[in-house]
Amino acid sequence: MTTGCFPVAIEGELLYGMLGRHRLLSGARTAADHSAELFGRRSAVASFDLPCRLDALAARIPAAAGLGGSELLSHTLFPFYAAFQSQETREVVERDLRASESSNAHHRLGVAAFRIRAGQALRFCPDCLDAQQEELGMATWLVAHQLPGVAVCALHGAWLRDSLVTRATAGRHGYVSPTEENCPRVAVSMVPRAAPEATSLLLDLARSAAALARSMPPARPLDHWRKHYADRLAAVGLMRSPRKVDQPTLNAGLQARWSPALPFLPAPCSSFGESGWVAAMVRTHRKAMHPLFHLLFDGFISHLEQNGMRPAIPDIVHVGGDRCRIARDVPAVDDAIPEAESRLRVDWAELNKQLCGEIRAAAADIRAAVPPLRVSRAEIERRVAKVDWFGKRRRKLPGAMRTLAEVEESVAAFRRRRAEHWIGRLGPRCRAWEVMRAAGLRSMHLPMVREAMEARQRPAS
Ligand SMILES: [Zn+2]
Repeated sequence: MTTGCFPVAIEGELLYGMLGRHRLLSGARTAADHSAELFGRRSAVASFDLPCRLDALAARIPAAAGLGGSELLSHTLFPFYAAFQSQETREVVERDLRASESSNAHHRLGVAAFRIRAGQALRFCPDCLDAQQEELGMATWLVAHQLPGVAVCALHGAWLRDSLVTRATAGRHGYVSPTEENCPRVAVSMVPRAAPEATSLLLDLARSAAALARSMPPARPLDHWRKHYADRLAAVGLMRSPRKVDQPTLNAGLQARWSPALPFLPAPCSSFGESGWVAAMVRTHRKAMHPLFHLLFDGFISHLEQNGMRPAIPDIVHVGGDRCRIARDVPAVDDAIPEAESRLRVDWAELNKQLCGEIRAAAADIRAAVPPLRVSRAEIERRVAKVDWFGKRRRKLPGAMRTLAEVEESVAAFRRRRAEHWIGRLGPRCRAWEVMRAAGLRSMHLPMVREAMEARQRPAS
């Protein structure tokens, strides 16, 4: 049995996005029906990054679509995660993702152990969504936007935003396409404030990552990488002897090269020193390193290879042993505020004012959501900026912090609002237990539910 119509895949489209478009075209009534139509299983898990049972899916797609198991695989994050893996690992994981019911791919590729993690939400670039709407009449998700650590769109340079589509909101078996509602365009206050040098580095990184996701380089065994990097370091004068890397200079140079971009990259990218990732790159690789580390490392050496060698590295002050710092580096500033941001001379008063407005607007949006959503600090943060963004800047943003505290809804108030919502939905003849069940409340909340029902029946004075 085939699925009838199947959307034509666009370049770089995430398989999850393709299946979301298929859901809209197929008109499947429920996620489980859709899953059965696609995979022959009502319970197939809708994975964002590394979906499995791809051969079963390929067998149900009309041949005209030209999508076999390995073509489907190229629309997942497999090429990105497998880019620096051995041929053997690639083959095992490919077989696993194509044939198995529940795959072991996250473990085999090391994804489960990486300190750089994928975010909870699918991400989007507003410019890409507009272009897709124009061309396809609907929007879809792209692989290049979901690569962990990539901050901007490789095509437009626009900052990637978190959508509201997470595993929790989309459901285990559901395929959700991007829409105006789940891809809100609210201003993200911190986003455009990076210096041009940071954005240009981030764009370079996004382009290299997108290239990996499009086509994998030839497979190499894990023990290839130490020698590969040592040879290139030797050529640019960063080896003290055939076996000994000039670690302090390497660390400092790499840090200097990427420093404008580091505040916008995952935190593990900023861990230098003896136990940091740079040192691990030039030791024997016993386990796979995250592709982002390879890209940062390769980007630094390529820069030296193209722009002259050792002298291009900034003056380095050796503090003794392996510790060193870069002479032109700025002194540490207010504890957790990313360094680049403090260098950019942020107008905190203006930002405070702007954020207060955005917090209130986000709170109003959340309050209007159906089914009801709690106006929590985390939900506001997620819509206005990023999780935990305010906490790190609370001393600079007193006004915004006050507004946040003011609009935040307590758990009890949210419970009451949820009960009221369902009393309204279920109508005047509803019973208290029906409200409790619909609102996900427990019997201990029965008095509150009864009270809310009575309050609704009382004529307004
Ligand atoms: Zn874009």
